[in-house]
Amino acid sequence: MLEKLADKNFLDPEIAWAGNCHTCQQLISLAAENCPYCGIKIEMDDIFVSSVNHVLLTQAISSANAIRTYDGGVYIFLAVSVMRFLIDVMSYTFPLWFAIATSIVWLAPLFLIGKWYQRHGKWDSDDAEYLFVQKELERSFLLWLVLHLFNGILIWISQQRPIT
Ligand SMILES: [Zn+2]
Repeated sequence: MLEKLADKNFLDPEIAWAGNCHTCQQLISLAAENCPYCGIKIEMDDIFVSSVNHVLLTQAISSANAIRTYDGGVYIFLAVSVMRFLIDVMSYTFPLWFAIATSIVWLAPLFLIGKWYQRHGKWDSDDAEYLFVQKELERSFLLWLVLHLFNGILIWISQQRPIT
């Protein structure tokens, strides 16, 4: 299910094909016959490399931004984790499977960021926006990792029940 989600919405957003004009460097649609800026006839061979770069980077950035919408979830995850812990410590209500079930969904951001790096993280580009989202995803990944660690410790503590 995660695989499907990753493919559909997050990792391959639809991008219009565009590239930089080989003469004036303006970003133009590949469908254009002549550059709307400088009027030169577009040579496919010349614009193609630029276009591939543009599409790959735009896709990487757009995908990263979609994945980063998960960032707000850290507060929910944290709240759920702490509340479950407090209730459990007071009343020993929750079995281990419940703790795991309410934690496992939050592995999705880690999974998606990992997939992003696999698919989009390898371009050798100095595009500022691309470098920015790459860094932001790194931060998100670390944040989620720390939260999972914290959550894991809480679960472990709450499983140390007194012998009755
Ligand atoms: Zn042009």
